Amino acid sequence: MKKPVVHIVHHVDTEGPMCEPLSELFTRVGQTLGVELDFLPTQQNLELLQSASCVFKDKETDMLLKKIIDPALLSFNKSWYEVEEMLDRILSAEYRNEFKDSFGNGWIYNWHLLDHVGFTTNPRRRELGYSGVFNFFLDKLKATKSDQDSTQWHFHPVPFNKAANISATSYLNSTYELSQVVCRRLIDANWFPVVNRAGFHTVRPDSNWWLEQWLPFDASNQSLQNDNTAFADNINGRFGDWRGAPDDWSLYNPDLYDWRKKGSLKRTIARCLNMNTRFRNISVQEFKKAFELAKSTEKDVYVGFTNHDFREMSTEIELVHGMLSEAAKDYPEVDHKFSDTISAFRACIGYDNEEISKEKLQLSAELSGTTLKVKVENGDLFGSQPFIAIKTVSNTYHTDNFDFGEPDSKEFYYTFDYLTFNLEQLKTVKVAANDKYGNTSIVTVNL
Ligand SMILES: [Zn+2]
Repeated sequence: MKKPVVHIVHHVDTEGPMCEPLSELFTRVGQTLGVELDFLPTQQNLELLQSASCVFKDKETDMLLKKIIDPALLSFNKSWYEVEEMLDRILSAEYRNEFKDSFGNGWIYNWHLLDHVGFTTNPRRRELGYSGVFNFFLDKLKATKSDQDSTQWHFHPVPFNKAANISATSYLNSTYELSQVVCRRLIDANWFPVVNRAGFHTVRPDSNWWLEQWLPFDASNQSLQNDNTAFADNINGRFGDWRGAPDDWSLYNPDLYDWRKKGSLKRTIARCLNMNTRFRNISVQEFKKAFELAKSTEKDVYVGFTNHDFREMSTEIELVHGMLSEAAKDYPEVDHKFSDTISAFRACIGYDNEEISKEKLQLSAELSGTTLKVKVENGDLFGSQPFIAIKTVSNTYHTDNFDFGEPDSKEFYYTFDYLTFNLEQLKTVKVAANDKYGNTSIVTVNL
């Protein structure tokens, strides 16, 4: 008899190299703790703080400080050279196979690729621009034949001061950048996202609704019973607010008005905790909860965890794998499997393979005169309309709404004329969509 499987899904918020000069670090410490830090930002003072038994009178602040300046959390991959050196190690078959799942297979990564766009200042020297991080990783994964890995969606909304190191939550304030990223990836790389990892772990109503149009899967829930909200930068649910969402590793469909509640939206949200950060970390206890759920329900369970490529990932992988092994040994009646995120969602929701291929979404697109007709030839759309990406002869990228055909016709229309673009202004037009199983259909319009 087939045992239930705990799917071990490693999501990487993939953002390229990052530097943190000492002045930036000392500012961040002050802002995160909500205190005035009366030290000059020098290496000597940092080491002093790291070795001091007590800095603040308040014990809790002292403990939080220790977590932020933990040397393991301060070692960054500062250049592409350092990122590449790490990738060459951890993408190798040799490294992946140091960790074997119940089926004898090695470690799998899910790379959520970020474009740092819309920013005007860049104190941490990140890779700014469209497709910078994206192209590097696509090339690297191809060169290392990392076909078992998947590439997915990650987006950082643009903050008011447009600094690349500042967190923000509003998709609506960033719609230009958002559309540009999707259009450019679709047109230039034939790529369309299926699984979201929320930037700064944060979903809000506007991103909840945007995602619901295109992406059937979302690994962003960080609900934790004893959530540590003591950090000043996370108080009152500021960033990554998952209070009230399921914390037992079950999947759920969110509510239209509140992404944390169970509701009638079609997107499926999985839980995804951090790997060795200052809070919301995965633990042996959390792994045991997942194995227990699989054992009691006899169903597959999704366990997501996440880190960044700007830190040395092997240390965090080895730490988390140790936790997994410790938990797994108590559950011989449950298997565990390193999974790509789409396969894991499918298995845990309970879609069978025959259904997934029989119902596979297939779009067609035909230009007749100035009217583009897009039809769902097989299966069903996940969201309400396909995504259209337009590249003009002046190399600008655009998206727009479709006109809907007759109700239930599964047809969509777009007219190219003086109100949009005339045909002679077009270079490339592509249309993409997903179905609820995470199948993607992309068609290029014959101009
Ligand atoms: Zn991020």
